[in-house]
Amino acid sequence: AKAEGGGVFCSFAEGMDETARQAVAMEAELRRALVRSELELHFQPQIDLRDRRVIGAEALLRWHHPERGFITPGVFLPVAEESGLIYEIGEWVLNEACQQAVRWRQAGLGDLRIAVNISPTQFRKQSVSSLVRSALAASRLPPELLEIEITENVVMQGAERVLKDLRDIRDQGVQVAIDDFGTGYSSLAYLKRFKVDRLKIDQCFVQTMEEDISDAAIIDAVIGLGKSLDLQIVAEGVERAEQADLLARAGCDEAQGYYFGRPMPSKLFVKSLSPQGMMVAGG
Ligand code: C2E
Ligand code: CA
Ligand code: CA
Ligand code: CA
Repeated sequence: AKAEGGGVFCSFAEGMDETARQAVAMEAELRRALVRSELELHFQPQIDLRDRRVIGAEALLRWHHPERGFITPGVFLPVAEESGLIYEIGEWVLNEACQQAVRWRQAGLGDLRIAVNISPTQFRKQSVSSLVRSALAASRLPPELLEIEITENVVMQGAERVLKDLRDIRDQGVQVAIDDFGTGYSSLAYLKRFKVDRLKIDQCFVQTMEEDISDAAIIDAVIGLGKSLDLQIVAEGVERAEQADLLARAGCDEAQGYYFGRPMPSKLFVKSLSPQGMMVAGG
């Protein structure tokens, strides 16, 4: 719902219940947030489980609200999707993430991969491959250092147009990861129709893997699937040393989670990469 003039906005809002009213208020605030550059990206390290080195980061969106502090995407993304603001936000995230990865390279941090979440809504309505092409051209980031994270439903319910869009993204040399793997209602048949680079085991399986043998079995099965289909496997939500050790022993390739590092602003991410927090040019 979009209302322009103040008067229209008021009489319109009076007829709504509290939740709807809040959503409308947040939509207006979110619009302002874009203009005032209140959105920022935080970066969570991704680790190679063989040598425990940081190989990249996932970009996670934060709204730095002037009064309320940092707001996580769970709160405002639904409003962004509902209002269509997700298109503008998604494009901003993609460009910002590519530029950040280039700054890291220029600061001598090496070939760090940057993973970017793209909302299913955006795939349904836009040519994401064109946005990717522009972001790569503008930033001059080598395509293989960009990874697009999608949920399995995007591929599963994928209209032919969406699958074509995804193939175009991979043809550009960009990697594609399936996020929250194992939580969608899905068959695995889509893995045959569309080749991906990486599966991210959802954190719900990792959280209780030490006690719950069915979680451990599912994780083993996904790792086996990765080996047979030549896909990299990333475990999400790793919070404890025991989980990291178990995953490494099971042959999981990569991991991400609070144990290795929380999502953080670029400055802190860069600091965390250097042993004694020693100086690295740029940030
Ligand atoms: P996701 O893509 O599955 O991201 C992982 C979420 O788990 C993040 O929450 C992250 O902060 C959190 N997390 C990471 N490690 C751990 C851990 O060890 N334990 C626990 N309990 N949680 C951990 P966040 O940042 O609140 O993001 C929530 C969701 O919002 C994301 O889930 C993603 O679906 C969406 N999102 C975030 N940024 C973007 C974005 O730029 N664009 C789009 N379209 N969606 C985004
Ligand atoms: Ca993700
Ligand atoms: Ca995930
Ligand atoms: Ca998720």
